[in-house]
Amino acid sequence: MIRAYRIPGCLLLLAVVALVLGVYLFRSVAGGLEDRGVTALSWSVAGRIIAVDPGHGGIDPGSKGSSAVEKEITLAVAQRLKEVLTSSGAIVVLTRETDKDLSDPDGGRLITRKRQDLSRRLELAEKQNADIYLSVHVNSFKSGPREHGAQTFYQPESEEGKKLAESIQAEMVRVLGNTKRKAKPVDYYTTRNSKMPSAIVEVGFISNPKEERMMCEPEYQDKLAYAIYCGLVKYFAAATAATGKSPVDRDGALETFIENEGRVFDAP
Ligand SMILES: [Zn+2]
Repeated sequence: MIRAYRIPGCLLLLAVVALVLGVYLFRSVAGGLEDRGVTALSWSVAGRIIAVDPGHGGIDPGSKGSSAVEKEITLAVAQRLKEVLTSSGAIVVLTRETDKDLSDPDGGRLITRKRQDLSRRLELAEKQNADIYLSVHVNSFKSGPREHGAQTFYQPESEEGKKLAESIQAEMVRVLGNTKRKAKPVDYYTTRNSKMPSAIVEVGFISNPKEERMMCEPEYQDKLAYAIYCGLVKYFAAATAATGKSPVDRDGALETFIENEGRVFDAP
């Protein structure tokens, strides 16, 4: 015989609320611990020379949304990334700091100027002896306005590029909490010609109206930069562990970092 018990509605509601609260608390504690882990590892980027390339600029706007333009978002995120990396003692080389490209103004057709722009950005990073080259872009898929989520790409045959891209993508998934995309190989001019390990981060889809709005918000730009930063910290920590070599101290960057010891970067 089966006896049916009726659970009072209010008790059931209370149980559901407790469960939701429990899950929420667990996730925030786990997230907090992860962020502390990143802070503890932030020494790994000290002394590293990191080329950050804000995609497009000048004559080349990149992809366009309903009101935003790719070149503006990439510059905003790259500048924020520079800030957080510099605070950890990294030396950041931005390929552009304003709305410009590196091609000659009388360099001919747009495609020729585009190629010149890209190769000069790489040259700039090489001259500065950058350890890695990270290009920031915004994705677009006009025929699918619901496509969304940040995604990182690497050159197919590059083992180091793969590690870099996977590290960044894992942190994008963790910090942003709105993408489950995976790092993927793609044959692209910059990653193909880069002598350093390199990756391309597409921080979101400008063709998705909601994501376009978010990518224009300073708070979300901070979050994107923080996610990339976490990926870089973990990539360099793993690289140091693998080679047994400490990051090279360049221009006293390590001292600067040690002086700033104890400073905690709050996750946005
Ligand atoms: Zn782009």
